[in-house]
Amino acid sequence: MIDTKKTFIILFVSSLFILSTCDKNKFQKFESGSFDLFDTYSNIIIYAESREEAEKISGAIYARLGELHKLFDIYNAYDGINNLKTLNDNAGVAPVEVCGEMIELLKFSIDSYRETDGAFDVALGPVLSIWRAYREEGLLDPESASVPPYEMLKEASDFCDITKIMIDEINHTVFLEQEGMSVDVGAVAKGFAAQLAIDEIIKESGVPCLIDLGGNIAAIGGPPGRSRTGGAWNVGVWDPLGVAGYIKIVAVTDLSVVTSGDYQRYYEAGGARYNHIVDPKTLIPADGFRSVTVIHPDSGVADMLSTAMFILSYEEGSELAEKFGAGALWVTRGGEQITNGEFDKYIVR
Ligand code: ADP
Ligand code: MG
Repeated sequence: MIDTKKTFIILFVSSLFILSTCDKNKFQKFESGSFDLFDTYSNIIIYAESREEAEKISGAIYARLGELHKLFDIYNAYDGINNLKTLNDNAGVAPVEVCGEMIELLKFSIDSYRETDGAFDVALGPVLSIWRAYREEGLLDPESASVPPYEMLKEASDFCDITKIMIDEINHTVFLEQEGMSVDVGAVAKGFAAQLAIDEIIKESGVPCLIDLGGNIAAIGGPPGRSRTGGAWNVGVWDPLGVAGYIKIVAVTDLSVVTSGDYQRYYEAGGARYNHIVDPKTLIPADGFRSVTVIHPDSGVADMLSTAMFILSYEEGSELAEKFGAGALWVTRGGEQITNGEFDKYIVR
């Protein structure tokens, strides 16, 4: 389901490229213009020597992201591919033959479940679907917005067992063993897809590039001729309280900056706010923080960590960040900003 707050669809065609001259050197800046993938508003910025080169590279990135979007889609089936919907539809029925990327993402997700002590759980699909339905209802008709009964969530959680995702790497199949279970990779698909695009296309091309998938930022290289920040990309972290605009600016190269927050996808019921990140232990949306931002060289890891750390306590999250060598910025419910030493290295203001 597309979130209207976050989404703005403009077809990605080469004529949308905006060309602006970068005075001090031969590189020119190109922007793709907004496009809609992974249910979010996205953009690609590239510095290249010519429009042709930029169009070629960003066209390739867009095409690859489009493939991965279809692969990890849980709502729609597509001709010729076995995607996550195919997998979920076959839960308890039969193993499904899938591509290597699906197996990689599921292996990473299962490892992450262990690393995060169960906070990051892609098998939470049945519980997430209930919250999604209540959220959509609540947004359509705020007057009668309500919270799912705990019994309903509890029953659904009987179908959320990550150990029942059976991966057969020899036969390239995945079997969800229990009928009624379902996998949802919304917490990691954007970062994972961005990282694949980086590894397969951008690193090879050698051009400075920034992929912005709805605020999941992957910054590769640095824009030329920006000596103030040493050729780094300046990335702003949005104020989750909606007061200050950006609360921090970080200067990064070859790093991803990913935020999970309660301020974009949520609804209100009985005076309380319910966001889209659910604590698998309580089965209700996590409310310890307004947002958590993570900096890490791997965009998939950054995406996974930001979601997990939004659920975990500050102490647990700090430990996790430390283990992964990640920078972190927590904004508490009261609006206090806490950073770790790794994050501080990149702050410009
Ligand atoms: P966003 O997608 O808005 O950038 P996140 O990366 O934090 O934010 O992902 C949130 C999405 O992750 C939810 O919409 C849902 O699909 C999924 N999700 C929610 N709770 C969990 C959880 N505990 N573990 C794994 N995925 C989750
Ligand atoms: Mg995430």
